[in-house]
Amino acid sequence: MPSVTVSARGEQRIRGGHPWIYRADVVDVAASAGDTVAVIGPRQRVLGHALFSDRSQIPVRMLTRGEAPPGLELWRTRLANAVRFRESLHLDATAYRLVHGEGDLLPSLVIDRYGHYLVVQALSQGVDRLLPEITRLLVEIASPAGILARNDPRVRSLEGLEQKVEVLHGTIPESVLVREGPVEYDVDLWKGQKTGLFLDQRENREAAARYARGRLLDCFSYNGGFALRLARDCPHAEALDISADAVARIGRNAARNNLPHLQAREANVFDELRRLEKGGARYDTIVLDPPAFAKNKASIPNALAGYKEINLRAMRLLTPGGYLVTCSCSYNVSEAMFADMIHEASVDSHTPVTIVEKRMQGRDHPVLVGVPETYYLKCFILRRVE
Ligand code: SAH
Repeated sequence: MPSVTVSARGEQRIRGGHPWIYRADVVDVAASAGDTVAVIGPRQRVLGHALFSDRSQIPVRMLTRGEAPPGLELWRTRLANAVRFRESLHLDATAYRLVHGEGDLLPSLVIDRYGHYLVVQALSQGVDRLLPEITRLLVEIASPAGILARNDPRVRSLEGLEQKVEVLHGTIPESVLVREGPVEYDVDLWKGQKTGLFLDQRENREAAARYARGRLLDCFSYNGGFALRLARDCPHAEALDISADAVARIGRNAARNNLPHLQAREANVFDELRRLEKGGARYDTIVLDPPAFAKNKASIPNALAGYKEINLRAMRLLTPGGYLVTCSCSYNVSEAMFADMIHEASVDSHTPVTIVEKRMQGRDHPVLVGVPETYYLKCFILRRVE
């Protein structure tokens, strides 16, 4: 069997429960791209088995501990467990994440369900090589009408893998109708962001709906995720996105969901918040769900400045007693940093706010303890006290 030998520090990481071994901790390689390898410690003991990548900064992603090599049976069991867990949650939605990579002990594999269709992302050489087997197992376990590989994320190029979108099984229509609570969406699995929808916010939209009222402003709306859920409780509703495509989609979704009062417009949120503030606008419910501002460690200071600017302005636009739902999906910005930023925004805007709820990504995106990379989405629901 192909193998990789790791340093003492690599062995320590494995014992600490983290599935990733970095390049600096790999001392010897007798394997090729995408192999499933035995991982050998500095004292020549087999520590476990892993997926190997010859291009990534993370050449080793652990699958199992111990001597027994993993076969197809391991993939079948883990996929079936992931599916069973989602079924046990009785989610009030027909679209959700079925496999969340490391959080399901299936490193670098993402699978989302949209009704009868599955969308798969293979984010390492090892998973890419196993895609035909994974496809067969998914057909066996979940009997989907179609499986689409959305293998177009940029991280694939770090693995030396081609970026491509292809049907792996059955057929995939141009758009798929799904439901999330009371909201219906038309989803483009082929070209939509991520795999089509931001599924990780489902439970936060549900939570926000408990407080939403009055005048609503949904910033960074994409296809209307928060706005569509909250507008039924808000007689006045505005949604902003910088993408014309997204704004058109919000309009179509508003019509489909019978929410004619939801107004979507194309705008840069940074400029628009400033303009609204100058004009003396006020809102009772504001949502901030920007894209990840901190893509890496070096961009953390700029990202925090960006988060602070929009939060500070949103706080000023809030009516007393109003709610701010504020999110960050930057893994590099920790919950503590995000909380500090909120504190500073509150001080600088002279707006006392309380934390009504502190939330994270939905339960279908499980966080594996000891693997901070699996915890990326923070969502605070704040209330302006006066
Ligand atoms: N809230 C959405 C997901 C938001 S994703 C949901 O619940 O589904 C982030 C969105 O922000 C993208 O649609 C992107 O087009 C938009 N965006 C990025 N930068 C922006 C900016 N400066 N102003 C407005 N929208 C922006």
